[in-house]
Amino acid sequence: MKIIHSIIELRSEIKKFKLLEKKIGFVPTMGALHEGHLSLARTAAKNQDVCVVSIFVNPTQFGKGEDYEKYPRTLELDAELLATIETETQKPLLVFAPTVSEMYPNDRYSLTISMPDLTNRFCGISRPGHFEGVALVVSKLFHIVEPDVAYFGQKDYQQTLVIKRLVSVLNFPIEIQVLPTLREPDGLAMSSRNAYLTAEERKIATVLFQVLSNIQANIQKGERSVSQLIQTAKQTITQFPQIQLDYLDVVNGDTLEPL
Ligand code: AMP
Repeated sequence: MKIIHSIIELRSEIKKFKLLEKKIGFVPTMGALHEGHLSLARTAAKNQDVCVVSIFVNPTQFGKGEDYEKYPRTLELDAELLATIETETQKPLLVFAPTVSEMYPNDRYSLTISMPDLTNRFCGISRPGHFEGVALVVSKLFHIVEPDVAYFGQKDYQQTLVIKRLVSVLNFPIEIQVLPTLREPDGLAMSSRNAYLTAEERKIATVLFQVLSNIQANIQKGERSVSQLIQTAKQTITQFPQIQLDYLDVVNGDTLEPL
């Protein structure tokens, strides 16, 4: 497994595979890898000839006062985990771990990709500028890696819509695959940021999954009133003053428009 820090070197490695008509699967990440990330890498490696995993804590997608500085950076451990995928799948795996100056030499904020109908809601409100940063870095990574298929997690659902729009409008010749959310045994979605939780917060965090599962069960039982579904869910959440809710809604899965 190769760990590559420079764009030129990565391009030249990928070119060798492309000349052999190998299919490239790509998994962009910010590192601090867990089984959720690894499931994407495993699928990419199994279904394509070569797997490229990028590990880059992208400054442009963090807002002021967010956790950019304290975001966990564990490249050595991440590389060990990815090496196990390479062994398991017997497919070549390249890790791309650029520095900030490699990705943003001097033009960091000079291009904004904006799709307000998708991003002026939910995470886009709690994290202004976040999706613009994601769209920028993913565009750059797509141009650098030129994958055939790129893999994203359903956990970041709004992000998957942003990526699909990006690929469609900018004509990237890349197939986007969205894979299911991997969860801890008690239902909490795996996330690098779970490491921030205290033992008490970690216990309470499972309420989010319980609430989502209840909404699903109530829909399956025939409940059709969105306001009723949300009211019931919010009643559960308000029992936990430690939870500060950013948003909870039942919306159109393609447009995020309210139902
Ligand atoms: P991140 O490192 O948080 O930027 O995530 C990199 C990719 O892994 C994104 O496509 C995420 O949606 C995906 N991902 C993160 N957590 C999970 C999870 N628990 N299950 C599946 N995919 C995930």
